[in-house]
Amino acid sequence: MDRIELEKRVEELNNLLHEYGHAYYVLDKPLVSDALYDQYMQELLEIEAGNPDLIFPDSPSQRVGGEVLTGFGKVLHTFPMLSLSNAFNDEDLREFDRRAQAAAGHDISYICELKIDGLAIAIRYEDGKFVQGSTRGDGRVGEEITMNLKTIQTIPLRLKEPVSIEVRGEAYMPKKAFAKLNAKRDEAGEEPFANPRNAAAGSLRQLDPKIAASRNLAVFVYGIGGDGSAYGQDSQSDALNHLAKLGFETNQERQRCTSIEEVIDYIGKWVEKRADLDYEIDGIVVKVDKFEDQEQLGFTAKSPKWAIAYKFPAEEVTTKLLDIELSV
Ligand code: NAD
Repeated sequence: MDRIELEKRVEELNNLLHEYGHAYYVLDKPLVSDALYDQYMQELLEIEAGNPDLIFPDSPSQRVGGEVLTGFGKVLHTFPMLSLSNAFNDEDLREFDRRAQAAAGHDISYICELKIDGLAIAIRYEDGKFVQGSTRGDGRVGEEITMNLKTIQTIPLRLKEPVSIEVRGEAYMPKKAFAKLNAKRDEAGEEPFANPRNAAAGSLRQLDPKIAASRNLAVFVYGIGGDGSAYGQDSQSDALNHLAKLGFETNQERQRCTSIEEVIDYIGKWVEKRADLDYEIDGIVVKVDKFEDQEQLGFTAKSPKWAIAYKFPAEEVTTKLLDIELSV
């Protein structure tokens, strides 16, 4: 591609990704499959890596999530809620491992967690009591959804210890609840939700908490907001065990791995088994386990350098349907 073509393609990709991102993050109504979105984003990232002067300040590659919906109170996150960089194959994972080892100066242990396909949320507790819940929003400012989150049965209103802590997790809609909801919407002549992720996001961003209460949502808590070591934990594995002891539901399928090859085996197992779960996952999140090593690696403006999201290959049928529908 010559320079003019390259500039034109960058502009095209910026426009497409902005449009798709708005439909997905703000309207909860995706226009294309995640696979197609990821493909365009990868193409943009590759062009930008080779041509830094083509990185626009408002490029979709430079931002987290979408805008914050009006109608909700705004919450300024004490610690930004970031995105994750992606891996699509084993070589991407090995490259991530090489970078992590080089930064830490020794072998690294990882923790693999299922990447729950829902909506990122933050919950603040003071002296063990639930005081505020919010969405990720644009990573810096989220929507206040305290009343909606309080309707979710798996979120404790009071912790087992009177600690002040912020936790991060994924709110999701189990597959059965999603099927029931769409059947009901169909009966009522309402438009069905595209997938459980959008149904969960749409349910939590409702001004009336009765709607969220009726949707059978659930939450897996996957981390502490900010510095986990401030709570006496040395690693992500310890932090998750601690969160479970405080009363949170954490996902039990996690696994600590002492090499990237072990990580790759774990991922291979879940590519096969993901359909058996009663909630949707869109990949595996691989995190450097020790907080000390995480600190060595640090962050980019958009994501931690100590974690990567392996994205499962697209499920052919759904992807094709969604993309073909669009092109006709
Ligand atoms: P991401 O979803 O790839 O990763 C970050 C998110 O993963 C976190 O915010 C958190 O919510 C979630 N997560 C789930 N389980 C987790 C765990 N165990 N530990 C940590 N985090 C966990 O990044 P993103 O910025 O939220 O979204 C980008 C993705 O969204 C794209 O790759 C694409 O697949 C999808 N998307 C699709 C469209 C579309 O039109 N179809 C548009 C925009 C984005």
